[in-house]
Amino acid sequence: MGQTLTEKILDDHLVEGDLEPGEEIGIEIDQVLTQDTTGTMVWLQFEALELDEVQTELAAQYCDHQTYQFDFKNTDDHRFLRSAAGTYGAYFSRPGNGICHNVHKENFAAPGKTMLGSDSHTPTPGGLGELAIGAGGLDVAVAMGGGPYFVEMPEVVNVRLEGELPEWATAKDLILEMLRRLSVKGGVGKVFEYTGPGVESLTVPERTTITNMGTELGATTSIFPTDERTKTYLERQGRGEEYVELSPDEDAEYADEIVVDLSELEPLISAPSMPDNVVPVREVAGEDVEQVIVGSCTNGGYADILPAAKMVADREIKKDLEMIVAPGSKQAGELLAREGWTAEMMAAGVNVSESTCGPCIGIGHVPASDSVSLRTFNRNFEGRSGIEDDSVYLCSPQVAAAAALKGEIVDPRDLAEELGDLESPGVELPDQYDGSKADIIDPDDAVDDDLIKGPNIGDVPLKDPLGADIAGETLLKMPDNITTDHIIPATSDILKYRSNIDKLSEFTLSRVDESFAERAKASDHGVLVAGENYGQGSSREHAAMCPMYLGVEAVLAQSFARIHKANLYNFGLLPLTIDEETYERIEQGDHVEVVDDVAAAVESGAEEFTVRVNDEWEATAEFDASEREREILAAGGKLTLTKQQYDED
Ligand code: SF4
Repeated sequence: MGQTLTEKILDDHLVEGDLEPGEEIGIEIDQVLTQDTTGTMVWLQFEALELDEVQTELAAQYCDHQTYQFDFKNTDDHRFLRSAAGTYGAYFSRPGNGICHNVHKENFAAPGKTMLGSDSHTPTPGGLGELAIGAGGLDVAVAMGGGPYFVEMPEVVNVRLEGELPEWATAKDLILEMLRRLSVKGGVGKVFEYTGPGVESLTVPERTTITNMGTELGATTSIFPTDERTKTYLERQGRGEEYVELSPDEDAEYADEIVVDLSELEPLISAPSMPDNVVPVREVAGEDVEQVIVGSCTNGGYADILPAAKMVADREIKKDLEMIVAPGSKQAGELLAREGWTAEMMAAGVNVSESTCGPCIGIGHVPASDSVSLRTFNRNFEGRSGIEDDSVYLCSPQVAAAAALKGEIVDPRDLAEELGDLESPGVELPDQYDGSKADIIDPDDAVDDDLIKGPNIGDVPLKDPLGADIAGETLLKMPDNITTDHIIPATSDILKYRSNIDKLSEFTLSRVDESFAERAKASDHGVLVAGENYGQGSSREHAAMCPMYLGVEAVLAQSFARIHKANLYNFGLLPLTIDEETYERIEQGDHVEVVDDVAAAVESGAEEFTVRVNDEWEATAEFDASEREREILAAGGKLTLTKQQYDED
């Protein structure tokens, strides 16, 4: 039987296990990526492992999430990251050089390679045939030390593309259509492999918009085959020699097939406040808009911004609205400037920002109260923009620019008809992206060879080995779809404590219950209860580390998001799956006891536990850990276990 493209790449990198869906496999990692809000902990953990240098082919440290450096703490973090990259042998991308996924795609992503990144949108270079997976920082630190990455072998789903995109429909509409059909849980345990005749009509930037936002489907990753377009993209980046032809075997068997006819797509929009809340733009047309932002790792490239720039050129955006354009990388920004598009946008009234994640996580350009913001981003979780009652829509740059011209949500096809002279903007790519590389420091040119730690940079917290008893108060009961933003918010007042866990933990779950941290600290032991899809969203391991630091020992949820569940294991927390009836019966404040000898049961391979609530009733909770995850839990977390293993070697 032939292999899918995913299986081929995994097979080439397999160090443990079989490629059977659901089985745990260990793979060798070629490249790693970290960013500023997860990277400090990655390097502190790398330091704790007492390794001398990065062992992967390539490691890259980006500074993109918090580039405004409001406070010396951010600047100290960036200096620490530069010093860590220099000390251990990683590339360092300076603050303002762009978003990790954009800069990595331009400079390092290569077909056939595996990559692990401490950011949930790490799958972005799947558009170039790289198999890239998001993970918690500790997994990244261990991979950077040469250890394999363990993941459940996903099911490979064939997304067969037919036809070509019609005018005004974009790659963003394709991934929004996938979200509309499958929901934010539709990709859990899956890889989406794009095939079919429609693939060749999509450019690499279009493909990476799709693979980027496969994360919103909950997918392990998404990937495209390579072809002439991939080759041309790499040549434009001056990396033509890295091209490798990759495709699935003709007789490859997939777990499932989804067919999308590109020619039937129309402009779509994700309404507040979940990425899968997708409707045709026409359904919400007429809604007043006060803010429009074009940028992010999804739609922040030159090829994304150019259509918006063309649409607003020689026009003016509405006066009661702000339009912000934040190029995803300095390369994109530099090219737009060199080609004259930055001046066109500025003349139209656009506020051209630095290359940063910023507003995507509520850092800068926070919307006004009770207002609508249209963004070309990938997430619109409630409160993520920096204001609790936000109303954020997600759309293509074309739909965003149309709203900026009209002052309200409008299908660009209808605006074109109304204006008479607005054409669907084509995208001409330059022969060469000859942007400067001044903001990337090669490890050979490193400016530091020792770690520089400011006063806000603390230690990595460690947990004791797993004991026999887990019992305590239900510290918080939460509904479905709790995101890592709920667990550890990423706003600027909190983000600066990412390398100071003692302080950061004070904000744990504060968006759900302001007094949570105080209560958890006072009770010292306890559990969390949640509905479906607990921990969806980002890869931030702080969402497991901080509850652990406050004394949480187990999380009982109806289901877990993949990366977060791995992070729970990594920090020694017991993830237990409960059914709906149990979820409904447990109340906040209830005393929950895991009846069995937990350490012994985990080590002996138990697949379920009995939980006793208030000494009154009992329920069964499922536990589906692999042997390796059991070992991690027993040791009190992955860092402790890895150190023990290094010591034994
Ligand atoms: Fe940055 Fe937003 Fe992309 Fe995350 S999703 S990398 S915060 S732009």
